Amino acid sequence: MLNQGIGSWPARRARRTPHRTAIVHQDTELTYRELHQRVLRLAHALRSLGVARGDRVAHLGPNHPAFLETLFAAGALGAVFVPLNTRLAAPELAYNLSDSGSTVLVHGSGHTETAAAACADAGVRHRITLGAAGAGALGYEDLLAGAGTGPLDEPVGPDDPCIIMYTSGTTGRPKGAVLSHANITWNSVNVLVDTDLAGDEVTLVVAPLFHTAGLNMTCLPTLLKGGRVVLLEAFDAGRVLDVIESRRVTYMFGVPTMYDAMAAQPRWPEADLSSLRSLSCGGAPVPARTIDAYLARGLAFSQGYGMTEASPGVLFLGREQVSAKAGSAGVPHFFTDTRIALADGRTAGPGESGEILVQGPNVMSGYWGRPQDTAAAFTDDGWLRTGDVARTDDDGYAYIVDRVKDMFVSGGENVYPAEVEDALLGHPSVRECAVIGVPDTVWGEVGHAVVVLKPGARADDQDILAHLRGRLAKYKIPRTVAFAGSLPRTASGKILKPAVRKAYAPGPAEPTGP
Ligand code: ATP
Ligand code: MG
Repeated sequence: MLNQGIGSWPARRARRTPHRTAIVHQDTELTYRELHQRVLRLAHALRSLGVARGDRVAHLGPNHPAFLETLFAAGALGAVFVPLNTRLAAPELAYNLSDSGSTVLVHGSGHTETAAAACADAGVRHRITLGAAGAGALGYEDLLAGAGTGPLDEPVGPDDPCIIMYTSGTTGRPKGAVLSHANITWNSVNVLVDTDLAGDEVTLVVAPLFHTAGLNMTCLPTLLKGGRVVLLEAFDAGRVLDVIESRRVTYMFGVPTMYDAMAAQPRWPEADLSSLRSLSCGGAPVPARTIDAYLARGLAFSQGYGMTEASPGVLFLGREQVSAKAGSAGVPHFFTDTRIALADGRTAGPGESGEILVQGPNVMSGYWGRPQDTAAAFTDDGWLRTGDVARTDDDGYAYIVDRVKDMFVSGGENVYPAEVEDALLGHPSVRECAVIGVPDTVWGEVGHAVVVLKPGARADDQDILAHLRGRLAKYKIPRTVAFAGSLPRTASGKILKPAVRKAYAPGPAEPTGP
């Protein structure tokens, strides 16, 4: 058997489009031929360090060509790639390294201290740095320069594991989803079928590659198609606008907070966005005001909904429907199916809310080393449970309501904080907000809003609550409002509700009365 995994993509592309630019990073540009040669060298180097089929190779660093080279080189050897979150502290990294059983870590020059500490704790055999070699680390470029370029001849099949990708950890400790080569490939095929992504695409990748959306929704489909990927190491709204202009970016993916920050730039009205053909947004609820700000510039989001466990694309709202169905996350991707299940197991009809379930060739086989979590993640008849509540309209377009875990019950009525947050974000002074359910002796639970005001804006709790009256049913309106300077978020921009709940210290129980 040949290598049918994604580790063969650079070689297959180099045969077709050797001279096209594959990756742009700062002043470096790599053609598909150069990418292929570097991947081949890295694979040989890893093999000479003892990496074999099934072994785990981890990466810690910002968006950089080395991330993609390590992914492809691991795939070329049938080894499993483990991307790590750059925000983690050394003990958390050590946990992920030993949880995944990684034997090699490739890391960026800015992560030397944490990488060294985590590798020592986790017993990682080889540490490879993009910085200066020494002190127990091998030099990345030295390894490439000394490696061979002969054929690797490693058989890799579509169902072999390709990536252990950790979930964002929004609701608890991150879990490692085992994604096969087929899972990743089918997700890219879904993206290529459902978007107009083309071989001349210039895709800006600014979401972190170690999260599934940054890697799988934009970067890999672009490289599969032979387009150009522009890597930015960190999100900076002004810089994103600069790069869109200077690189003539045609496509990008971002989480809602990124798009909000871009639209809040003073030079947003003058920014030249004429090269953009499409924008895609997802990963967290997309506020109506965000959609409106871009529609006003003649730009529409293709909204997507997904999760790490589904590699990640599940629902997609394509170009034709973006305006007519603004706010919807669309319909299932071409090769993927969904079902919305009511509490009693029946399939929901239009307008009824239930948990959205997923099946398809992009869905993981399970979590790494967690048989119980894996069993809990699937229904008896093989559907992946998303833990998200959704409903469809009469045309079958889905709307994500909120996470099951974030819902609370007030006076017997279900409250979905995402709906309340969307309404709060419509207040002109509100920059960010989070709503949680807190105990209440009369109603069981009531809403508590934590609000971050825009710079220079003034509003008190009464102004905020007055904005919601008439817009939302009474039981959905938070009882209390607290003001904060910022909200705890994951690296992918999602509000860490457990941290918000922890920060909320309930005062002495006082009945609020009807
Ligand atoms: P963890 O599973 O560790 O708690 P996580 O679920 O945030 O973290 P991811 O796999 O990165 O980890 O995110 C998937 C989740 O993101 C979905 O289950 C959903 O709650 C949310 N999400 C993704 N896209 C959208 C969207 N378009 N609208 C609303 N929510 C979304
Ligand atoms: Mg999750």
